[in-house]
Amino acid sequence: MRVVRTSSDLKEGLAPWRRAGERIGLVPTMGALHAGHMALVAAARGECRRVVATIFVNPKQFAPNEDLASYPRPEAADLEILQSAGVELAYLPTADEMYPPHFSTMVRVGGLSEGLCGAHRLGHFDGVATVVTKLLIQSLPDCAYFGEKDYQQLLVIRRLVRDLDLPIRIVGVPTVREPDGLALSSRNLYLSAQERRVAPELSRVLRDVATALEREPGAVRRETERGLAELTHAGFDVEYLEIRDAESLAPVRDLVTAAARVLAAVHLGRTRLIDNVPVASSPATARRG
Ligand code: AMP
Repeated sequence: MRVVRTSSDLKEGLAPWRRAGERIGLVPTMGALHAGHMALVAAARGECRRVVATIFVNPKQFAPNEDLASYPRPEAADLEILQSAGVELAYLPTADEMYPPHFSTMVRVGGLSEGLCGAHRLGHFDGVATVVTKLLIQSLPDCAYFGEKDYQQLLVIRRLVRDLDLPIRIVGVPTVREPDGLALSSRNLYLSAQERRVAPELSRVLRDVATALEREPGAVRRETERGLAELTHAGFDVEYLEIRDAESLAPVRDLVTAAARVLAAVHLGRTRLIDNVPVASSPATARRG
């Protein structure tokens, strides 16, 4: 596996593959890799002849009070994981490479970026949209892979690719979970043993809400309130729990009539956790994702 740290080395690494007409898949990450990231690599390998992974802890998507400085950066271990997963090119730019002096352009996706996590992490999705746009333009892959774990992020990226006419297919990959249901996340490393025991309650509550809504699509208010109460009772400090349309993220007020998603963000001690699960629009409709 070749490791490059500048966009010109990235272009040089990609050039022979592009000349040969080989399909290229891109997997952007912030490192501290786990089986969730590896599912993206596996999906890319399934569809693309060549896979490029990026590791970049993007300062523009962290608010000043967030965990940028303490975010885990086990670079050597990450590179070994990528290599053994069959990644052939790893791009690890520095912050200066991505944002040289006088950098002043931001990509902002209206609407989709505004609620849910966007309402609680001001500027977060502008930072995500900006870095992903740059990574996509620098590498110009055929396909790029993102997790449903960050569902709002996935929709923001799909929208920016459409809006900016980037000729890249965005592929969403279902969330990889621990056997007890906890969604894998680099931030799970922050959890104490006691918090780790509580953490799976988040996915359990979301699944229960989704199942109840599939049986009773008109119970949106009741289930939202029940979900919030159960999360609080389990010991989470809840940022939000909401039922949203799975495509537009518009709030579902009373009745689930189309595919929806139950999404939540909570704090457990010093750790912020997010998760989401699908709600099929009628009991007869197979569950997706
Ligand atoms: P991150 O390193 O947290 O920025 O994540 C990089 C990519 O991996 C994003 O597209 C995430 O949505 C995806 N990802 C993170 N955790 C998971 C998971 N548990 N299952 C599937 N994809 C994930």
